[in-house]
Amino acid sequence: MSSIKEYFSSVGKGIASLAKGMAVTGKEFVTPKVTEQYPENRATLKIADRFRAELTLVYNTEGRHKCIACGICQMNCPNGSIELKTKMVELPDGKKKKVLEDYYYDLGSCTFCMLCVTTCPQGALEFSNDFEQAVFTRAKLVKKLNYKPEPTVEEIAAAAAAPKPKPAIDPEQLAKIKAEALAKAAAKKAEKEAAEKAAAGQPEGNAEA
Ligand code: SF4
Ligand code: SF4
Repeated sequence: MSSIKEYFSSVGKGIASLAKGMAVTGKEFVTPKVTEQYPENRATLKIADRFRAELTLVYNTEGRHKCIACGICQMNCPNGSIELKTKMVELPDGKKKKVLEDYYYDLGSCTFCMLCVTTCPQGALEFSNDFEQAVFTRAKLVKKLNYKPEPTVEEIAAAAAAPKPKPAIDPEQLAKIKAEALAKAAAKKAEKEAAEKAAAGQPEGNAEA
């Protein structure tokens, strides 16, 4: 008698469990889909504006950037991802001024810490959310950011005469962000070295032996 009772009890539990599962399936069936069908939906895909994909120079409507070649972004980058080439030009008043010649950015070593953007006194940098950055060689990840015609000598003179804006970040906050970024970069480097040693079959800490 008890085995018949157990049998019907387990059948009842099975049906209840099945109903519960079907309820979840039914709910998900009518819930709007969140999975992106990339790359089929490339034309309509919306990437969040705050997503950091690659560093870019901000260009105005005349195609001019605001970089004054001060080198602050290069000095603050914990990964050496920024390399500036500068040159001297003579202004109409005879004074010499350092200007940007080439602005190179290595996306392959950038950790998207934003130190360059937050410390730029000109607001000349920003991150784009253009996420399609796949290339076949690392060399192609090094990009020249000043790809439009450079400002004329007159424009440089006008910019030099304008009052200098200050970075929108206080020194204490900057030091904190920089320390965090440097620690992150050091950890990444140590991790990479350990992985290289492991791949070479060399026991860690035995490199000098
Ligand atoms: S900090 Fe700004 S203005 Fe200075 S070199 Fe970098 S991008 Fe140019
Ligand atoms: S986001 Fe950070 S790591 Fe990338 S270029 Fe700027 S300072 Fe360097």
